[in-house]
Amino acid sequence: STEEPWRPFNRSRVYMADLESTLHYSLRVEVAAHTLIKGDALTSLKKYISVLAKYFPGRPVVMSLLKSLNSWLQNQTGNEISYEALREILDNSAQSPDTALPEGERWVGCQGSRPHLRRYPCGMWTLFHTLTVQAKNAEGTDPQEVLSAMRNYVHSFFGCSACAEHFEIMATESLVEVNTLSSAVLWLWSRHNRVNNRLAGDLSEDPNFPKIQWPPPEMCPACHTVKENGEHKWSKEQVLPFLLSHFSSSSILTDYLE
Ligand code: FAD
Repeated sequence: STEEPWRPFNRSRVYMADLESTLHYSLRVEVAAHTLIKGDALTSLKKYISVLAKYFPGRPVVMSLLKSLNSWLQNQTGNEISYEALREILDNSAQSPDTALPEGERWVGCQGSRPHLRRYPCGMWTLFHTLTVQAKNAEGTDPQEVLSAMRNYVHSFFGCSACAEHFEIMATESLVEVNTLSSAVLWLWSRHNRVNNRLAGDLSEDPNFPKIQWPPPEMCPACHTVKENGEHKWSKEQVLPFLLSHFSSSSILTDYLE
């Protein structure tokens, strides 16, 4: 395939094109690797779609698709479903033009300087952060709802198995400590920074997008403070409102959508 032209973007913003591309890749490529979905994988998929139908801050056509996918899936009471059956619901836009998940990948904030860099894993993190923030804003009832849905999705489907193992270890260690919707937002933020720290300088790092402890001071000056001994310290009282605003639905840019 030919290389796509670079799409100029603002590095300090979230793009709906990345979130929709992530859903496309997740539901049409990653889940498609399972011809039959059963057992734990089926439970994981049901939870994941249910969280998306509740909290994905999508366009009306996309929400309509996620909601019909969710009601179809929750009605499947057998032990297994075929991917083919799921795919029919996903691609039903021919019958109902107001219901659709756009085909194809169109990365913007998750563009990489090479085709094997960034993209889907970047989109997955962006989706996960966005969902924890939407759950907080929607005043969801279960503080672990979104994180445990992600954990199960990653465990059952995420193509990078080393990533899934690392994520599972972090979840086993400390997910029980998450007891408010705000602490869920902060848990994911701090675990993502741990991953950034581990991967800094790794082959998977895009030289144009170095792994940093995020958000950098230029994005959120107040998030950074200094201890008496001169060491860096995050101000969580500042990080939380920053995350709530950065990943809020009103901040998501709709450039480059079809
Ligand atoms: P990413 O780390 O993907 O981040 C995407 C965007 O999120 C950044 O551009 C920035 O805008 C924002 N961001 C960065 N840090 C934070 C933060 N702390 N909080 C909120 N937003 C932030 N790769 C491996 O090689 N080994 C692993 O073990 C591994 N584990 C992974 C586990 C999960 C659950 C996921 C989704 C991915 C994992 N990856 C792993 C992939 C890796 O973390 C990156 O996603 C990938 O290398 C692309 O990096 P990136 O530069 O696009 O930035």
